[in-house]
Amino acid sequence: MEFLIKGKIYYREEFLEGTLLIKKDKIWRIFLTKEIPRGYPLIDYQDNYIFPGFIDSHIHLLELGLLNIFPDLSEITSLNDLFDIIQEAEKNLSAFPFLLFLNFDLEKIKEKRFPKRKELDKIVNKKIVIISQKDGHTTILNTYGLIKIFNQGFFPGMEVDNYHQPTGVLRGLANEFIHKYYKKYLPVDVKMLAFQEAEKVIIKNGITTFCALVGNEEDNSYELLLENLHRFKTEIIIFPQVKDIKKVKNLGFKRIGGCLLIDGSLSSYTAALSVPYEDNPQTKGILYFSDEDLYHFFKKATEADLQIAVHAIGDEAVKQVIRAYEKFLKNNNLRHRIEHCEVLDSDLIKRIKKLNLIVSCQPAFEYFWGGKGKLYEKRLGKRINFTNPYRSLLNESIILIGGSDAPITPPNPLLGIYSAVNHPNEKERINLKEAIALFTKHGAYGNFLEENKGLIEKGYDADLVILENLPIKDFKIKIKAVFKKGTKIWES
Ligand SMILES: [Zn+2]
Ligand SMILES: [Zn+2]
Repeated sequence: MEFLIKGKIYYREEFLEGTLLIKKDKIWRIFLTKEIPRGYPLIDYQDNYIFPGFIDSHIHLLELGLLNIFPDLSEITSLNDLFDIIQEAEKNLSAFPFLLFLNFDLEKIKEKRFPKRKELDKIVNKKIVIISQKDGHTTILNTYGLIKIFNQGFFPGMEVDNYHQPTGVLRGLANEFIHKYYKKYLPVDVKMLAFQEAEKVIIKNGITTFCALVGNEEDNSYELLLENLHRFKTEIIIFPQVKDIKKVKNLGFKRIGGCLLIDGSLSSYTAALSVPYEDNPQTKGILYFSDEDLYHFFKKATEADLQIAVHAIGDEAVKQVIRAYEKFLKNNNLRHRIEHCEVLDSDLIKRIKKLNLIVSCQPAFEYFWGGKGKLYEKRLGKRINFTNPYRSLLNESIILIGGSDAPITPPNPLLGIYSAVNHPNEKERINLKEAIALFTKHGAYGNFLEENKGLIEKGYDADLVILENLPIKDFKIKIKAVFKKGTKIWES
């Protein structure tokens, strides 16, 4: 199969009118003249932009897919809305072993509180109800769920009322336990369905390659995904989210970790900060690892030639990661990454640079949580000036790769690029080309794909996305088509 694609090509950081000759799965030639080579079928995209296919370096594939199966609470504004949705789900989702509700957003709920366990019991009392907060770091259970899952015992992170009875709200370790629980008990066919539903959403957003962060110590979904990779249209790079180095090696993976938690999240007050939370001065968050354990994990995984990714949001968590690497890491040939890095300071940035660690960022966090009156300011007060400091990181020539953390934010690189260019903190804005690189060139480097992907160059994979406009003033831009290795996999 040979054909031509014409349009405004993003070539060596410029927009140039031209034509690409695609042969099989590769970009065979690039013509930057007005003339169109003869003898090949032509797809003329006229004034539209031709970009390399986007790379999202951070997607929770199962959770994104589950959002397309179980109810999404992200748009509801009251507890009554929630109760209606639960009632509906009890009728429609009776085949599932539990009822799962994702993306509960306390900020949007007018009552500004979580539902009470007893309120949930009035609607469902013979089936487990699990409600997950948008950031994944708080869950709420009904009484039946508490009894079934925790067998009436106490678990660290369980919130209790004045009578020492659990309220149903779970944070920290108890929250983690629930997330592991429901993933473990999901039937295999539901998991496969979730993976495939998620991929449909991913492709529509112009993504041709992505990192899928999958599984945990009790859920081996990464094996299921690995065995079925041939069923997907995109290039999927799997991060098994476990600490079992031997198992990961035996299965043939080259990577380990993902959102392997060093700390929690800002919205749940569990991200580890060096000073107390502005709006909750009793706490500085949680570190899940001891220094000792983290050092051993990093060292052993490095000796096993695995690329490591871990989740560190607060400055204290990032500091712990750096401290562990500083003890032994001589170079970063394995391209170890830190996910999120939302709260930094200039000392941490210098140490990240010295270790040559990759920062895997999610610029859409600034779109949702940055700026006046939003989450970052509430939790951090004045330190808001140092959230997601992209300009400062790039000034130190640190490699920044971009992702969405979907389903926490939509898997939409255009939103990511727009958010980085329009960072609420003007000092930390980066320009369009730098922002595009997060989701193309640097994304490829972060995943050892820089020889085939992330650029429009002769001999590179014909992974392309056609855009009607540039995501500078708005991110809601029509995507005309998506090509993966020369095959059109999506068209508007
Ligand atoms: Zn994470
Ligand atoms: Zn994540």
